[in-house]
Formats: sequence, C-alpha cells, structure tokens
Amino acid sequence: MRGVRSHVYAIPMTTRFRGITVREGMLLEGPAGWGEFCPFTEYDDHESAPWLAAALEAAEQGWPRPVRDRVPVNCIVPAVSPERAHVIVTASGCATAKVKVADEPGSLGDDVERVAAVRDALGSTGEVRVDANARWDVDEAVTAIRALDKAAGGLQYVEQPCVTIEELAAVRRRVDVRIAADESIRRAEDPLRVAVAGAADVAVLKCAPLGGVRRALAVAEACGLPCIVSSALQTSVGLAGEIALAAALPELDFACGLGTGALLTADVVDDPLLPVDGWLPVLRTAPEPTRWKGLSADPERAAWWEARLARVQRGSTRTGG
Ligand SMILES: [Mg+2]
Repeated sequence: MRGVRSHVYAIPMTTRFRGITVREGMLLEGPAGWGEFCPFTEYDDHESAPWLAAALEAAEQGWPRPVRDRVPVNCIVPAVSPERAHVIVTASGCATAKVKVADEPGSLGDDVERVAAVRDALGSTGEVRVDANARWDVDEAVTAIRALDKAAGGLQYVEQPCVTIEELAAVRRRVDVRIAADESIRRAEDPLRVAVAGAADVAVLKCAPLGGVRRALAVAEACGLPCIVSSALQTSVGLAGEIALAAALPELDFACGLGTGALLTADVVDDPLLPVDGWLPVLRTAPEPTRWKGLSADPERAAWWEARLARVQRGSTRTGG
C-alpha cells in the first residue's frame, strides 16, 4: 500500500457494544477508493487476514454491480426495559426489530417482556427476530425459543442460539422457529459446514470477516441458504462494503443488520450511512480528512495498527491468500 494514504482512527461508541467502548481501525486508500481494515483487537493475525482482503478489494478493485438500489435494515434492541424497547422500535421506523436476548443467566423473564413490547410497537405486520449470541445450551435454547416465539406472536428467526454447529442442528430439530447462523459462519474455517450439517435456515454474512464482497457472494451461493448481511461495527467506509454485498445478493428476503452507524459517536465521512425509515441507500462514500482529524488514534495505538497491518500483509503474501 506504499504511496497511498492511510489513517488509524479511534471513535468512541455511543453505547458499549460487544464489550467495546472505542472502535479502532485503519482506512486504506488504493486506486479504486478507500477500504477499511478493522479486525477486532483480540483477533490474531490469521483471523485478521480476510479483513485485510476485504479492505484491499475495496481499495484496489471495487465491488460487483448491485442488483438493488436500497437495502432494508432492522433496528437493534439491546437488553433494555420493555418501555425503552418500545421507544427504540417506534423511533426507528424499521419494520423489522432484532432483540438481544440471553444477555445474562436467568434473563428469560425479562427477555419475554421485552419481546412482547417490541411486538406491540411493531404491530402485527412487523417482524421480530432475536439474537442469543451463543449463550444457551440446547435445552435452554429450546425452552427460551418456545417462550419467546409465543411472546412475539411468531418469531422471524433466532440467531445463533448456541455455540457449536452440532448444537444448532439439535435445537433446529426441536423447534419450529427458523435458526440463523452468525458466529458459526463468521469465525468458521469452513462456513459451508453450517448448511451441510442442517444447522441453520438463514445465514448471516459479513464481508469483512469473509474476505470481501466477492468471497461472501461465493459463500452465499455455495451454502444455498437465504442470507442477510450484517455489519462489523465499521465506519461508513467499511459499512459501504457490507451494503454492497447486500445490494449484490441475487435474493434478499430479510432485513439486514446494517443500521449500526449510529453506534459510533462520529464518522469519517460527510454523509454517514444511516438508515431512513428502515432503508439504507446503496452508496460508496470516501472519508473526509477534515472529519477524521479529530478521530485519530494516539501515536502508540496508530503504531500498533501499522505493525499489525504489516504482519497480516506478510502472512497473506506467504500463504497466497
Ligand atoms: Mg448476531
């Protein structure tokens, strides 16, 4: 990437999410535009390699042609009170809500109340999905999914109820609600194993951890499941890549998890990619140096990212990936 600009950013989050209060990453410029390299800091170099491939695809190659010019998104309801959940859903204008559940052991009673409040806010035509982030074992999942499905008057799907693919398959055999695989696809050596094992009805894709829009499209085609696209908490530079993936999928039957721009207190572009009435436009945005000035990582963190980038680049060259 010599001879082109790069920038290490550090942006405070509006709410603690995924245990993170400040999001860090790198913006990389290439002949085709800007890409974003932002594997979470705990990821090792091997796991970070596809994130670099996705950033380089954006910077050097650009993305495949879209088949739609806007993408439906869901709103996110964290582990908040039913009253707060109602407000979040109503204010979002989204027709689909994703409710975080299983936030802590013994939370099912609260989860049921929150899901019921979300259904009330959406009305009968909206869609309610829940995300357990792999917190349940099989029996807990079956009990919880039945209770939440009843409270929701029908769940659209439950995302990643358990950790392993085998557990997902076991839960899927015992409930009538669709199962979506998220972590199982994102961090798997072989994302296709999810479909082969009969572990899911829906695949959650993110182009950054899958190595770019083209590779994610190949995963979508090979797994043969309906797909949704979700963000990896990027700025609008990386988010545009996830939106490009959603825009290029031949079929898109469900709202995507791409309304995450508001989780950052600031963005590096002039017009951040934020949903309006539950839709995001399919646009590519370039970072604006006057914006990123106030969002720079301190020199020590910037050096850490530069060194990480160099290591991952060397590793990727060596393995040809
Ligand atoms: Mg998830």
